[in-house]
Amino acid sequence: MKNIIDTDVVIIGAGSAGLYALREVRRAGRDFLMIDRGPLGTTCARVGCMPSKIALHSGAEWAARHALANIGAHGVEGLSIDHSTAWSRLRQQRDLFADNAIENARIGAGDKLLEGQARFLEPTLIELESPQGIQRIRATSVVIATGSRPVMPGWLESVRDRIINTDELFELNTLPDSIGVLGLGAIGLEMGLALSRLGIRVTGADLAANVGGIVDPVVAERAHARFARDMELWLGTETRLERTDTGVRVRAGERDTEVDLLLAALGRRPNVDGLGLQAAGFPLDERGTPIFDSATMQIGDLPVYIAGDANADRPLMHEAADEGAIAGYNAAREAPTRFVRKISLGIAFSNPDVVTVGTHFNALPSEGVVIGIADGSKNGRVRILGATESLLQVYADASDGRLLGAAMMTTGGEHLAHLLAWAIQRGETAHDLLSLPFYHPVVEEMVQTALQDIVKQLPATSPYPWGLTPDTM
Ligand SMILES: Cc1cc2nc3c(=O)[nH]c(=O)nc-3n(C[C@H](O)[C@H](O)[C@H](O)COP(=O)(O)OP(=O)(O)OC[C@H]3O[C@@H](n4cnc5c(N)ncnc54)[C@H](O)[C@@H]3O)c2cc1C
Repeated sequence: MKNIIDTDVVIIGAGSAGLYALREVRRAGRDFLMIDRGPLGTTCARVGCMPSKIALHSGAEWAARHALANIGAHGVEGLSIDHSTAWSRLRQQRDLFADNAIENARIGAGDKLLEGQARFLEPTLIELESPQGIQRIRATSVVIATGSRPVMPGWLESVRDRIINTDELFELNTLPDSIGVLGLGAIGLEMGLALSRLGIRVTGADLAANVGGIVDPVVAERAHARFARDMELWLGTETRLERTDTGVRVRAGERDTEVDLLLAALGRRPNVDGLGLQAAGFPLDERGTPIFDSATMQIGDLPVYIAGDANADRPLMHEAADEGAIAGYNAAREAPTRFVRKISLGIAFSNPDVVTVGTHFNALPSEGVVIGIADGSKNGRVRILGATESLLQVYADASDGRLLGAAMMTTGGEHLAHLLAWAIQRGETAHDLLSLPFYHPVVEEMVQTALQDIVKQLPATSPYPWGLTPDTM
């Protein structure tokens, strides 16, 4: 074994969180080494956010043919789609994103990027196993940004040759005629919808009673009804699987179908189990995940920070970016700084999008909350867009109308989500927000309607029309 290499900061993982950590370590002018076992390119760009959105966009484009007859188009029924072309175009587009992320890692880290598998011997002593052999690295501090991987539970073993995970989905040469999607959280819902809109027969199943992880019961009911139009939904029920000659028989209660392939979207597991954390003396919870502070990303009182999916806290790209930046900033300094975390935001790009912002319905106080509702059937633009089932619920403090959170299934929900998240984080009240302009006819008027509904339920504090302030100059 070669001598131990010394450096200031080791970053394990060149994914989104790791690259944001790298930026901060470089800004602080500290020496560093970045380790990644590959493939480079980040989960988000290679097998996550980006290919899933390309798939949804392809599905939306192909599904648009159904609406063409409404404007007098003829011959639509004669159209056909070549799924292998659709999927290879997806990969071409996806590769541009992934190549960009690979370039960021290679240029950002230069010859300090070491490709190999990292493992802890002590909290600041790392063993790197690479094709060049085994090396030891001693660092002043470490950032763990090793991401996560799809889970494939043991009970799926009997159908293992007919089941894929989301990493494998985008590598298929062509798409099957039918697919069963196991797990209908945000990822399973998005993939089920993308595939069904591309013309695949999809059966989606989940033990949970709701799709997309929605906890607001009114939004959940709407979403169930809406997405059942795209694909078969088997919710709140256990699924039994049996390998057949040509595929897999899927049963739940009285329901029974046969599919060519299954997609497991049953959650992701943080990549911390192979890091030797326990033996190296890290404080771990009962699932083996390091115990850390989400304001500093520090693990216990060690000079080690954990960011992104690896900590299993907020497995989303924008959170991985913030956490990576916090971890990198703190790893480059003697004492960690506590950072204010941004308000929570979750979007499934399901069109109508399923969104949760701020405080979730099940975390609201049991009293002192008003809910402002906007129904898509009453919004002109939403009606034109054919998404009348859209629904927005905004939660506010009953004492002053300060916004607490929101849940929705709305066309253009990705945009409303941001408006509401920004307003909530700024501590805005329904009254104050109504003093801002709303154009007509726009989907944003859903927000205006929900805000007005909140104000209606609060004690009147002003004789003036909602949203208008008298000019006292
Ligand atoms: C299908 C799908 C759709 C998604 N859609 C969205 C979305 O629309 N919006 C959103 O915000 N999020 C989305 N996500 C989640 C998002 O992709 C992740 O939260 C984010 O990519 C996590 O980034 P990360 O840096 O933590 O991990 P990664 O990007 O996975 O980086 C981890 C890196 O660590 C390396 N590594 C692991 N173990 C070791 C080791 N022992 N030694 C050395 N290197 C190691 C890996 O090779 C990898 O390069 C989606 C995820 C999936 C799967």
